Amino acid sequence: MTRKAETMPSLVGRAAILAASLVVAQSINAAEQHAGSAAAGGFGFDLAGADFASKPGDDFFRYGNGAWYDRARIPPDRSSFGVDTALNITAEGRIRDILERGAQDVAPAARAEALKVSAFYAAFMDEAHAEALDAEPIAPLLGTIRAATTREDLAALMGGGRQSFFSSVFGLSIGPDDKAPDRYAVFVRQGGLGLNREYYITPRLAEKKAAYLAYMTQMLGMIGWEAPEQSAAAILEFETAIAEVSWSNAERRDPDKTYNPTSVAALAEAAPFPWRTSFANADIGSLDRVVVVENTAIPKIAAIYARTEVATLKAWHAFHLADGAASYLSKRFVAASFDFHSRTMSGFAEQPERWKRAVGTINFAMGQAIGRVYVTRYFPTEAKAQIDDLVAHIRDALRERITRLDWMSPQTKLKALDKLARLNTKIAYPAKWRDYAALEVRPDDLFADMQAARKFFWGRQVERLNLPVDRDEWGYMSPQTVNASYDATLNEMTFPAGILQPPYFDPAADPAVNYGGIGAVIGHEMIHGFDDEGRKYDGAGVLSAWWTDADAKEFTARAAVLGRQFDGYEPFPGVHLKGDLTMGENIADLGGALIALDAYHLSLGGKGAPTIDGRTGDQRFFLGYAQSWRHKSTDDAIRQLIVANPHAPEQYRVNGVVRNMDAWYAAFGVKPGDKLYLAPQDRVQIW
Ligand SMILES: [Zn+2]
Repeated sequence: MTRKAETMPSLVGRAAILAASLVVAQSINAAEQHAGSAAAGGFGFDLAGADFASKPGDDFFRYGNGAWYDRARIPPDRSSFGVDTALNITAEGRIRDILERGAQDVAPAARAEALKVSAFYAAFMDEAHAEALDAEPIAPLLGTIRAATTREDLAALMGGGRQSFFSSVFGLSIGPDDKAPDRYAVFVRQGGLGLNREYYITPRLAEKKAAYLAYMTQMLGMIGWEAPEQSAAAILEFETAIAEVSWSNAERRDPDKTYNPTSVAALAEAAPFPWRTSFANADIGSLDRVVVVENTAIPKIAAIYARTEVATLKAWHAFHLADGAASYLSKRFVAASFDFHSRTMSGFAEQPERWKRAVGTINFAMGQAIGRVYVTRYFPTEAKAQIDDLVAHIRDALRERITRLDWMSPQTKLKALDKLARLNTKIAYPAKWRDYAALEVRPDDLFADMQAARKFFWGRQVERLNLPVDRDEWGYMSPQTVNASYDATLNEMTFPAGILQPPYFDPAADPAVNYGGIGAVIGHEMIHGFDDEGRKYDGAGVLSAWWTDADAKEFTARAAVLGRQFDGYEPFPGVHLKGDLTMGENIADLGGALIALDAYHLSLGGKGAPTIDGRTGDQRFFLGYAQSWRHKSTDDAIRQLIVANPHAPEQYRVNGVVRNMDAWYAAFGVKPGDKLYLAPQDRVQIW
């Protein structure tokens, strides 16, 4: 909700850069440092991947990336390929090595956990054992579902789902309270769906919905559930009814609407459901206050639940159990799950090898235990100070921009500047590592390990309910994650070691390219604190109305223009991007690029930028920006992204941004008549 996991796509898809380790030279701000040792070659931009014969003003994504795009091949076991993918592939190999080497060459303090992740890996890799067991690991859970006779019994299973493989029509999560972010709250959310709600209610997506029905029938048949076809049809009807009353992802972005604290008694009155029974099984039975997220949907979902036959609810439970556990069962389950979720929904051609799936799963379950070893082997600590420096410059640039904004009142500016000053930054890896001592792992029982991991994760969440919010914690990211995030309730940004690598950040590259790469990423996260969602939280991370009405109105009007631009983009005939759903990301992209460019200019210290390879500093900045979004996806993956993802496809994250920046027009001589041209008065400027 207030956390935004980012997807920072793309760049040089050449194996050469994969091998390139960080060459720690001098500060990124040394404008003269642009020797030919950069990972992408030349000044840090992959010239051979550009299409300089095309017109920058018609399609800047193509201008910067066209030759790369034309020859890039999406690996068959992925749905896309790009800069971030290349780094992820490298990380995957490194993690495999960590998992295979166990405690070898690991510092004494980290040895026990290194052995634990190794045992987890061994359990996952024992395919013969998984094959022999087939569906047996889920048999006891399936037996529990079969034994249930009432809706209350089934609601009890839902509560226990966080610690096992049961699903729920109501999601439960624990995180900082939006209005008192120094303590944790329990959030109750809409749930119950196997797909995003849009798939159930959008005629254009009927084909995927039909594939989902077939998949449910198949899974139910595989676990020996009675009348799989009729059961699957009943589940689809049940989920479609829930989808119809559920909020869209765009609606769920408004923190004012999603913060609805209430007593459990009042919740039970508004939305009759066996809450107490369910909560007791989630180990939060004594709870008296929750925050309801989609407050108009929850009572309707409770009503649908109350009127649905117990037999349908049992089939629903059984299907979701099998679906959720499929990846840890025998080959036929793994294959069925892959065919639907990856091939049909995202356009994968081939199933990833088992070791890759093992790496992905264990990296998710015990990311910090792996990260602790990862950073000692692969992260040069000097880079941390360089990023600190870069963050400071970009913060200076945003401070200056806020100070000179012509549309904001002095009183709102004062509070915005206070928020910026209090913004915390976490770089590379946590100061304090997560303790996995309570997680029991066996080398010979994958399913038990998966259950233990879920129990461990939820147990940590529950334990902290009466404790102050842990501000040192890295919640969702690991050091090896190739991504970045902003958290509004903590007012902090996180840049894991995984993204502090070429081509995002290359100490050997021209600073202009680095500012267009990691600089724009840092700017992006910083602006999330001031996008249409983040701006509603103050410097202490409290959801509060700190803007004057007039300033809030002006912000919204400016954002609406950007929203209309994105509504207008049409990746496939008749399929438009959603300006409201992608609003926060688009504001962050645009503002982030603007402050990164300002920061680059400030870093020159009053001197002009050098010309390199016949290109000006601003030209190299924009090329670096385009390069950092180098990415190619299957059509299915793009279509899936458009349905419910808050990020626009990469080409729009380039073209939709630069066309609003005056400096881009000047740098490339973009004129009326060029396809991306916007008249000055139509260019959006928020920050
Ligand atoms: Zn973002």
